[in-house]
Amino acid sequence: MSPPRTVDGHPLPFPKAESTKSYWLNWNTLQYPVTKPFPASCDVLVIGAGLTGCSAAFHLAEIAGKDLDIAVLDARDVAYGASGRNGGIGRSSFGFAWKFKSEGKADFDMIRNKLAFQEENIASMAQWHKRYLSRYPAAEPILERFDSDALIAFFTPAEAEAERERQARIGTLGGKRDLPESIDAEKVKAIYGCDAAKAGGMVVKPSYAVWTAKFCHALLRFASDLSRVNVQTHTLVHIVRRVAGAGSSSDAEFEFVAHTSKGDVRCKRVIYATNGYSRALLPELLVTPVRGVCGSLIPETAPPFRASVSANHGYAYMSSRPDGRVVLGGFRDLQENNGQGWNAEDSDVDPRVASGIEGFLEKNFGTKTRVEGVWSGTQGWTASGEPVTGQVPNRPGEYVSAGFSGMGMCKCFLSGKQAALLALGRGWMAGFPDVWKMDHRLSDWSPSKRIKLGSSL
Ligand SMILES: Cc1cc2nc3c(=O)[nH]c(=O)nc-3n(C[C@H](O)[C@H](O)[C@H](O)COP(=O)(O)OP(=O)(O)OC[C@H]3O[C@@H](n4cnc5c(N)ncnc54)[C@H](O)[C@@H]3O)c2cc1C
Repeated sequence: MSPPRTVDGHPLPFPKAESTKSYWLNWNTLQYPVTKPFPASCDVLVIGAGLTGCSAAFHLAEIAGKDLDIAVLDARDVAYGASGRNGGIGRSSFGFAWKFKSEGKADFDMIRNKLAFQEENIASMAQWHKRYLSRYPAAEPILERFDSDALIAFFTPAEAEAERERQARIGTLGGKRDLPESIDAEKVKAIYGCDAAKAGGMVVKPSYAVWTAKFCHALLRFASDLSRVNVQTHTLVHIVRRVAGAGSSSDAEFEFVAHTSKGDVRCKRVIYATNGYSRALLPELLVTPVRGVCGSLIPETAPPFRASVSANHGYAYMSSRPDGRVVLGGFRDLQENNGQGWNAEDSDVDPRVASGIEGFLEKNFGTKTRVEGVWSGTQGWTASGEPVTGQVPNRPGEYVSAGFSGMGMCKCFLSGKQAALLALGRGWMAGFPDVWKMDHRLSDWSPSKRIKLGSSL
């Protein structure tokens, strides 16, 4: 049977060669040094070299060591998907914590579990980064805690009320969680220099500035030292097929063949770390590609803050860089239907969003800026806003980790690790949220489910 050419009336969302230029990719000059010939076969094939796929490759390498042949393929260069185009903000996301109608004990446990795991994910990234710097002392830091962590700024009393109520309910969950501290407008002004937060704000700790593209490079560098890792960029995977007669032919050990733009790769296990592009290879997986936009701004005067700030219900989010720049993104609310439609195109930017980015800092912080560049990236959203990791239903040997829906870094580092563990025949790691497991999410595969996006990042 030939594969479908469209899904839900859209062309299959394969990554295209062209993309907007991003600050994090050094305006698309950052390239991974491919050193090995194209592999004919491997033990585990990882499709996608974003944060999830690079984390999966690292953890495969760390656990299995030199006994494993790992191939990482990406249609573009390393981190040229969402991971090289984001806002660079690494912190827990509260956006979907209260999506469930009933507030019984089971829901509370689930929410507590999810928030705790996001915190563990961020802490694991910070620990991994320490380990990386001690192994490679000459390497540049690529993850730093923001001087003033993260501010959720409230421009209006309604924003303040909604978020404070949510945080108060999260507080009832107990645990060791460092809950956001509520501060008034005067304190916001003193710390962040923000006049616009007339209804005060909340400080989220810890919050990290992450150069995600370089984090991906670092993961692959470390992985390559630990195991036999073959990274091939500019290699589009067209389709993965189960090998007919696997288990009985001379090729018995290879279960799958991936047909790519550079030739075929046979493998025993496959990990799809394809996030917003997942439906091109797994059309039945209800992950919708949604476009996000960010820009890099150079302040003409001193940078307005050394922190990450989000505002307008999370529709605007920004982070300061050590070099004084501010990376500012969001503004989906300036588009029809809140920019929630299917959009896997990251080679251009909606002009309404670009102009929202251009004027924002001057309007709200009084800081005149010059726009250095604006870019877009493809996120993968699910109906519930939760990511999904696990074996592809009815396809043993194939695993997916995708659907990070907005704020993804607090989920995808350990989700990539989890996919690696499953591919190696290990089980679920302690604390991995049930609602992120494929086993619990089979209903999301039903064609009757349609995406409903939350409003905040
Ligand atoms: C504009 C924007 C701002 C964001 N801001 C933040 C933020 O500040 N904080 C935060 O936590 N999160 C943010 N996110 C989300 C975060 O970046 C993502 O959740 C995260 O990077 C997802 O990583 P990933 O590896 O799963 O996906 P990706 O980085 O998208 O990687 C998937 C990779 O798979 C490859 N691929 C797909 N299909 C194929 C195929 N058929 N063959 C070969 N290769 C293929 C792609 O080329 C791509 O490189 C933002 C995202 C965007 C777009």
